[in-house]
Amino acid sequence: MKNLYIVGSCGSIGTQTLDIVRKNPFEFRVIGMSVGSNLELAYSLIEEFKPEIVCFRKKEHIKEISYNPIVTYGDSGLLDISKYSKYENEVFVNALVGMSGLLPTVEAIKARKTICLANKETLVVAGDIIKSLIKEYDVPLIPIDSEHSAILQCLSGEKKSEVKRLIITASGGSFRNKTREELVGVTKEQALAHPNWSMGSKITIDSATMMNKGFEVIEAHYLFDIPYDRIDTILHPQSIVHSMVEYNDGTIKAELGTNDMHTPISYALRYPSHMIKDSEALNLVGLNLEFKELSTKRFPCLGYAYDAARKGGIYYAVLNASNEAAVYLFLHDKIEFLDIEKIIYEEINNSEYENINYDIESIVYISNKIILKILNEHGVEEL
Ligand code: MG
Repeated sequence: MKNLYIVGSCGSIGTQTLDIVRKNPFEFRVIGMSVGSNLELAYSLIEEFKPEIVCFRKKEHIKEISYNPIVTYGDSGLLDISKYSKYENEVFVNALVGMSGLLPTVEAIKARKTICLANKETLVVAGDIIKSLIKEYDVPLIPIDSEHSAILQCLSGEKKSEVKRLIITASGGSFRNKTREELVGVTKEQALAHPNWSMGSKITIDSATMMNKGFEVIEAHYLFDIPYDRIDTILHPQSIVHSMVEYNDGTIKAELGTNDMHTPISYALRYPSHMIKDSEALNLVGLNLEFKELSTKRFPCLGYAYDAARKGGIYYAVLNASNEAAVYLFLHDKIEFLDIEKIIYEEINNSEYENINYDIESIVYISNKIILKILNEHGVEEL
């Protein structure tokens, strides 16, 4: 029996993780759960899975529960769940969105839970720190994202010294068929209509700007220990090939599947087992797979991610924080779509941040500072 802690359980990855638990009650049980602001969903999940510890987003969300779990709330509540540890075989599923995912990952590593990571920001802003913690506490770190799940599988049984490059596929997001000129004045409703994947709103916007792919390049660098100049991206509109690894002899290994996140979630929860099927298999007959160059001229945010990586250190946090604020402003109708990349460009080229330390405290401090600064510049008080 695996004992799960799921933070971000009401989101897209969270609810799909719970689907798998629901179907496999003799394999998984939920010990801890953080819920979001959709209270109807939150209470129905709590009553269904009856976790021992529950974290609400806000204190005022706490109402009556039919049994007596430990109840916490807010950012400190997330840490309570991360630290809570009573069993063997504990798995921490981080399905939070944004910077709020960082500290819970750190605490869950220290509690020696296996980490199944869907929260991108953890590795983007603090990759080096997380990697050394993982080593120190000797816990597995398993990606949930479809691209990294694919690479993990393509690397299985191979020698890292023989890897020529990683090739991360990108669907192109909601505006893949638009030129840069056609991006002027696009709406958030258009941006949120992703052609292939059903995901939360932050990541759907990140897909449209291609920042999501930039984050995935950074995550791949840390997860698989491959230098940035050997991590490439390619446009693949069907999202059937989830990513590839090219070897020195020219062999390219790919992982293919449907556009269903249940598959990579299931693989992460049961790693390295492919034993049980929680989603439909891919029908190969009639498949048409296209690959095109992914241009950083068309998608500058992808280039900004490599730029920030080149600068390294605190600039990873600068990249993420400026993106987080800009996407928030776009989703709240405060800026235009093309302003997102302008805001990020300005911040990652701001030399003011050069002397800031690269440690968890500074990352959290500067991230909050940048987010607040950008929001305030656009008349918004806080996230
Ligand atoms: Mg992905």
